[in-house]
Amino acid sequence: MNSCDIVGYVLCGEFQCVDCCAGVDVEDCNPVFADSEWDSWPVCAVCGEECHDVNLTQDGQDYYDAAGAEGCDDDS
Ligand SMILES: [Zn+2]
Repeated sequence: MNSCDIVGYVLCGEFQCVDCCAGVDVEDCNPVFADSEWDSWPVCAVCGEECHDVNLTQDGQDYYDAAGAEGCDDDS
């Protein structure tokens, strides 16, 4: 993946994936690049899909690590 790829846009403060932005005039919207960092995966406001094509901050990685660890107690 190219780091300058656009994976979605922020419209009215809400993330939307590129698929849902198809046909929308995004000229005035903030593009979300693949190398941007988020505290959690951005969720498309239209289709509800999590976008995993961006990077997570350390906080974000810790959050998902902790959430994942809660689900599996059988690694002792
Ligand atoms: Zn979408």
